[in-house]
Amino acid sequence: MKKSKKFLTVTLASAMVFGALTTAALPVGAVGNGPNYNGNESIRTSILTTYEEMVDFLKKQEARQANLELEVIGQSVKGRDLYVAKFITNPENPTILFLTQQHGNEQLATEGALEFIKHLGTNKTKGVLDNVNVIVVPMLNPDGAMGDVNFSTDNYIADGGRHLTRANANNVDLNREHNKDISVMEPEARALYENVFEKYEIDYLIDLHHQGTQSALDNKYVSGSILYPTNGEVDPHVIENSKKLGAVVYHEIESKGWGLLGKYNGGSGDNIGRNGIAKRYGIATLLFEMRGMSDHTNPSAVLGQKSNGYLIKQSIATLDSTVRAIADGSIETVDTSFWETLPFQRNKVAEEEGEEDGE
Ligand SMILES: [Zn+2]
Repeated sequence: MKKSKKFLTVTLASAMVFGALTTAALPVGAVGNGPNYNGNESIRTSILTTYEEMVDFLKKQEARQANLELEVIGQSVKGRDLYVAKFITNPENPTILFLTQQHGNEQLATEGALEFIKHLGTNKTKGVLDNVNVIVVPMLNPDGAMGDVNFSTDNYIADGGRHLTRANANNVDLNREHNKDISVMEPEARALYENVFEKYEIDYLIDLHHQGTQSALDNKYVSGSILYPTNGEVDPHVIENSKKLGAVVYHEIESKGWGLLGKYNGGSGDNIGRNGIAKRYGIATLLFEMRGMSDHTNPSAVLGQKSNGYLIKQSIATLDSTVRAIADGSIETVDTSFWETLPFQRNKVAEEEGEEDGE
């Protein structure tokens, strides 16, 4: 379904509620033009939604929306409740799960997901929830997002009152937990498995992340990159459905003046969510890596906040387009042929080895 101009206006106005939209306009060709950190620009983490603000926001939305139910699936290492936002109107309907911030320093996807939760309570998405169930796990790593961790954050470069870290409070990468026995996973991952994957019938998953700032196609910075499961033990049918999920996202983002997507060069290990979840549960998965992180020890990984507006818009468009395509069944017939020619992104400026974290 094509969105009206009015829809986008509302989207942008709403995005400003989070204080993250700093560009007055989003001109065509804005993709990748937002600067990465150059040592001069202030990267203010204070403009990002805090964990406490997120919880307040979710509770307000739950009070307003008949279809929305919140659930606490467990606690982080530091004792923060882990929230899931559920829109389950009919358990027989197909279900999509959106997961954000396994890595605490990758926040804008969460900002987009919160905005999308709000959209689901408006007339803009009227009727869509009759045909699809939506589950959102925003900020799976709240301790990392709040910089409340058991290791030093002295070398993180953002300022604004808090740092955001990739790892959880125990300095463990939550997106390397996915091949473990559930009982020995870190608390955040364990909660996700015990109380989401083991409890709900999920058909599709988009795992939202942020990558560094230097990835490009033909010398143009990308706005993000995508990849389906690449582990050899994933059912080919699941991979095909994952490619369809990616096709919906690709066509949606590429239709925007500011969107440019490359193929993510990801590993095949089943410790990564994209692979492990597809293998374990037969869920069609898509990794979406948005450009630039909110904080990092390496300047080239961190994106200046001038790009926040279009990256939040990109997250909203991703969630909105896939929910609609599942609801109306068009995901079944989407053209996936672009995957055969989609180039792997490459670094525009050679970066020091190992300075960025993958996936
Ligand atoms: Zn990540």
